[in-house]
Order: sequence, then structure tokens, then C-alpha cells
Amino acid sequence: MIELKDYSYDREQMVEQQIVKRGIKDKRVIEAMKKVPRHLFIDKVYQHQAYKDYPLPVGKGQTISQPYMVAVMTELLELKPEHTVLEVGTGSGYQTAILALLCAKVYTIERIAGLKEKAVQRLNRLGFRNIGFMVGDGSLGWPQFAPYDRIIVTAGAPKIPDALIKQLADNGRLVIPVGTEFYQTLNLVEKYKGRIYRKELFECTFVPLLGKEGWHKD
Ligand code: SAM
Repeated sequence: MIELKDYSYDREQMVEQQIVKRGIKDKRVIEAMKKVPRHLFIDKVYQHQAYKDYPLPVGKGQTISQPYMVAVMTELLELKPEHTVLEVGTGSGYQTAILALLCAKVYTIERIAGLKEKAVQRLNRLGFRNIGFMVGDGSLGWPQFAPYDRIIVTAGAPKIPDALIKQLADNGRLVIPVGTEFYQTLNLVEKYKGRIYRKELFECTFVPLLGKEGWHKD
């Protein structure tokens, strides 16, 4: 049977209650979050929870981030329409969609091929044409298209990967959770005239960034 539920009211409520009320101000971020059908990035069993205030499983032990966290990280990037963005941790592709509405080009890397494939299908079906996908170790970045005006890492790293700092453009901003495998602090890194400025913002919890410059597991 085809699911015909219209989630637009749930989406409006999510944006008002979880995003705007908590202080997100960037109008472009708010509009993007009103537009992207988050439930289409989530498997059927969890779809009725798509607009709730928490992360959800997306398979392979990974998660789609809490809507508020997506909004905060996106706002911190201060995206402009002409920007090129590198995203590490495609996951469901939901954050990718938000980014792709707000900038010229997104390059996104996911280490799990099955997740990347699903994200490609969803984002193609929704008509996005400004996204490059790769399966690989995003802790090493994607040197081919560097430098990036903005970089966002949606998995928790033990440290800020050198490769990402190198691939960040001057006047660039990088948002990344850094800490242990279980909880992290969201870091904002800015590059200005070749110098690096780092701010620790607030505590958060992400799945681990696995890889050469991440956690070493498999
Ligand atoms: N932004 C995603 C979304 O909207 O669904 C959520 C991302 S999820 C919290 C983190 C993702 O990072 C997982 O899909 C995980 O497989 C991926 N990941 C972990 N280490 C990685 C690495 N070194 N390179 C690329 N992706 C990685």
C-alpha cells in the first residue's frame, strides 16, 4: 500500500518548536529545513518519528542527526550561494540536501557504500543536481576538489584531521565534533590569512568518525 501521509504540518511544527524557538536565526537555514522532506530520508518503520526531536537509526549502526543539530551546524557554516562545501559523513543524505539548497556545490563522503547508494537515490529522486558523492575515508578529505569554502563533519573525531585543515580555503569555516567515541564538543575552526582559529562551542554526541585521521576500528 502506498503511504500518502502528508508531513508538511509536522515539518512546520518541527521548524517552529525545535529550530526557531531554540534560537536559530538564519532565514535561509530555516527555509531549507521547511522545504526538505526529512521523512523521505528515513526507513518506513521510523518514518512517523521523522520530525521528532532526536536522531534516528538509518541502518548499519548509523544515525540521521537530530533536526536541531543539523540546523545549528548549518547556521555555523554561514553559507553563501556561491560556496563549495565538503561534507564528511553522508549518512541518510538529509544534511546533504540542506547544504545543497544553500550553496553552489556539495561534495559528500560516506565510508559505508550501502548508505551512500541510498542517499544518491533519494537526492536524485528529489531533483538535486549539485552534489558529488564518494565512498571512502572522509577523515582524509577529498583533495581533488579542494580548497573548500566550508567543511562539515557529522561524526565524532578524536582530533581535527590535518587533511581537512589543509583542504579548507582561506576565510573558510569547518564545523566538527571532537572528543571521545561517546561524547564530543562541537568545534568551529576558521582559517584567516593562513592562520587557524578554533572555538569549542557545546557538548554533543555523534557516532565515531572512523578512519586514518579518525578512530581506528576495522
Ligand atoms: N549527516 C547525516 C544525515 O543527515 O543523515 C548523519 C551522519 S551520521 C551521524 C555519521 C556518518 O558518518 C555515518 O553514516 C558514518 O558511516 C559516517 N562516517 C564515519 N566515519 C567516516 C569517515 N571516515 N568517512 C566518511 N564517513 C564516515
